[in-house]
Amino acid sequence: MGLENIDGEVYFPRRAGAKISRTSLVITLCAILGLLGSLMLTMTENYNSVQQSATAITANTPELATTSTTSPTNKATPAAPKSSPMNLQSPILPFPTLLWEQIAALQSHNRFLYTGNRYLREIALTFDDGPNPYYTPQVLAVLQRYGVKASFFCIGRQVASYPDLVKQEYADGNLVGNHSWSHPNLALLSSDEIDSQINLTSNAIQQVIGVRPTLFRPPYGVVNARVLSKANLLGLTTIIWSDEARDWTTPGTSVIVSRILSLAGDGAIILMHDGGGDRSQTVAGLPTIITTLRLRGYQFVTLQQMLKDLPKRPASTQAPIFVPTTIPSASPAASPGP
Ligand code: ZN
Repeated sequence: MGLENIDGEVYFPRRAGAKISRTSLVITLCAILGLLGSLMLTMTENYNSVQQSATAITANTPELATTSTTSPTNKATPAAPKSSPMNLQSPILPFPTLLWEQIAALQSHNRFLYTGNRYLREIALTFDDGPNPYYTPQVLAVLQRYGVKASFFCIGRQVASYPDLVKQEYADGNLVGNHSWSHPNLALLSSDEIDSQINLTSNAIQQVIGVRPTLFRPPYGVVNARVLSKANLLGLTTIIWSDEARDWTTPGTSVIVSRILSLAGDGAIILMHDGGGDRSQTVAGLPTIITTLRLRGYQFVTLQQMLKDLPKRPASTQAPIFVPTTIPSASPAASPGP
């Protein structure tokens, strides 16, 4: 008994204490794990928001097809938010706040556009990734046949390879814009590399048509603070788009046509491609797109005209405007996604 008592006194209380401690430990650990899980979930959501913010202008393009969830292309009024959705996270991750502040500042000066005037029955057809020796002449032929002026965002190295096509684009009354030298995700590049991608292209276009481009479309529609700052400092207006047909997926001519016709609205900037792959479906659908939209009362304008028709006229010069430019040195670049 004594031993038992002793055992009881010595061991039982200890065993009981050990049981209590383990139970407490398990409960405490569960609570900690639960808290950590919530914290991780919140951080993950925040991180996803950051990624979405940083790539919110993402285009549906072949190379970044998996990142297209944040594309504004299916929204009727895809204006960027005036304030950052990341304010709560800004002390930790200030970069997206800066990005949206920059976009808002640029938008207020009509130096960053998703759409034209939403109260005017005009549409801008835009063609990216050319010039292409096979498809660009076909697109130009259709535009000429229907008397339509469009806008071409050209890749610099393509301009250098096919200068005559760019000359024809311009001679036909179309606008020629800058779409980088080699179509990288600019948000992953340094400021110097971004500068080089943009400047080399503007130089090439100016050399061919005698006019330096004033409009710039970032490849994939992806921007970050560095890209926006650089474009602004170079006096370029950044143009995204409001509607697209995802013609790069070659879904069939009828699908391309129906997508564009269903999305097109007042002031729409429609993205199509005359380079970068098989664009035969785009070319085939173009006459129906043009004639149908005309029947609906739309006028086709270049982006230059669209800018002039905005309610608030852009500044007469292309000088840089003030935007927040204090870019964190370790700011994350836009992610191409999973
Ligand atoms: Zn492109």
